[in-house]
Amino acid sequence: MKSMDLAQIYARNDKNRVYLRTDKNGTEIWADYTCPRCGGAGGADAWTYTGWTCYSCGGTGRRDKPQLIKYYTPEYRAKLDDRARKRAEKKRLERVEELKANLTEHMKEKGFNESGKIYVAVGNTYDIKDQLREAGAKWKPRFRSWVFAEKPEEFDTVELSFDEICEINEMAGRIEYKDIDFISLIASKLPAPEVVSEYVGEKGKRLEFKATLEDWRSWEVPSYSGWGTDTKVLYKFRDDSGNILIWCTTGYGVDSKIKKGDKIILRGTVKNHSEYKGEKQTELQRCTVKVA
Ligand SMILES: [Zn+2]
Repeated sequence: MKSMDLAQIYARNDKNRVYLRTDKNGTEIWADYTCPRCGGAGGADAWTYTGWTCYSCGGTGRRDKPQLIKYYTPEYRAKLDDRARKRAEKKRLERVEELKANLTEHMKEKGFNESGKIYVAVGNTYDIKDQLREAGAKWKPRFRSWVFAEKPEEFDTVELSFDEICEINEMAGRIEYKDIDFISLIASKLPAPEVVSEYVGEKGKRLEFKATLEDWRSWEVPSYSGWGTDTKVLYKFRDDSGNILIWCTTGYGVDSKIKKGDKIILRGTVKNHSEYKGEKQTELQRCTVKVA
């Protein structure tokens, strides 16, 4: 025998254990006669009131039919552990392969349809929860809402795809939900509320707005002086209430550092109210624009 671990050394001194044989791997096989109830003590203080002696072995601490115990050499133990690790790794890879091969089935188990989509009910779902349930929706706490596998016609929903919210965890060998904020994801897919532009202020009034630079364009016109051309620039802003503000000026009135989509503070005097492509817009003049 190459080496012996502590359990084997103790086993040699335990009167309830009997050595049987050693196999070709150096594994010692022992017969253990220890009573499983009293652990070989023959009794226990905890049983004092019912009589200290163990009723399973009658106080001998031994049982008739021994349990076979194997003591491995550290070398063989390491070999077994290594084999077990390789088996587990092979199983993991097989599981991942299986998940990929039968992904549609696994997606369906998680409530997705054949195309890997689910539909999450949005809006006030509490008031219509009974209708949602009757229509086949399932409550999913993860989304704090009701979920359909197929897009229902009678309810407002947001579509989520398997790839967006799930992934195969290859290390664990299973399909998992991604570690993302599902509520925000759903919210980001809601259609933006419809914005209606209204006229702002009265002609001649000087006003200040919190606004966004939405668009601008420029073109050349013959110069007023008669020499060369002037640059005309049309800026389109939208204030925080969704109203369109227009400023047409000669030369670039807005610093080029300010880009489309930037939040700005806009001051200007109302010049006119007009309509363009069915939308009401307030034309401004003598504007100043600075970064908000
Ligand atoms: Zn016993």
